[in-house]
Amino acid sequence: MTCLECNKELGYLDHKNAMESLGVELCVQHHRRMQKLIEKNNTPLEAVQLYYGLKEAGIGAMLEWWDGKKSIDIAISRVKLNIEIDSEYEKLTEEDAINNLEEAMHSFKNGFTTIRIPHIVVRYYLNETVKNIIGIMEGLKANIRMI
Ligand SMILES: [Zn+2]
Repeated sequence: MTCLECNKELGYLDHKNAMESLGVELCVQHHRRMQKLIEKNNTPLEAVQLYYGLKEAGIGAMLEWWDGKKSIDIAISRVKLNIEIDSEYEKLTEEDAINNLEEAMHSFKNGFTTIRIPHIVVRYYLNETVKNIIGIMEGLKANIRMI
């Protein structure tokens, strides 16, 4: 059991605390830092879990990346991919939905692709989610080469 950020060996309690609150293995220091980021941005836990899932797959992503207008849950800048975790999509109103579509349109115009992933998919299918994101990245890379 080591910290996913700094590889520091984790004690039983530190590991337990981090797993219970975030679902990822972090040392006390990185756990605290992550909690501050979550409080500041209202980051869904699944975004944190997906971020570390991608990291373990060797993909450098950014958590809570500020795009100039708003904070993106996860951004993978080298393929201009933005990932938003929908944590309350059960309660999605038609207004939210049209706003999401409009945001997607703006990011496409700026050369970014935005995908929205329901939080339950990350929770129950983390590995498959990471695999699909890798596939999306490959597709985006191929498209970038064609231009
Ligand atoms: Zn650490």
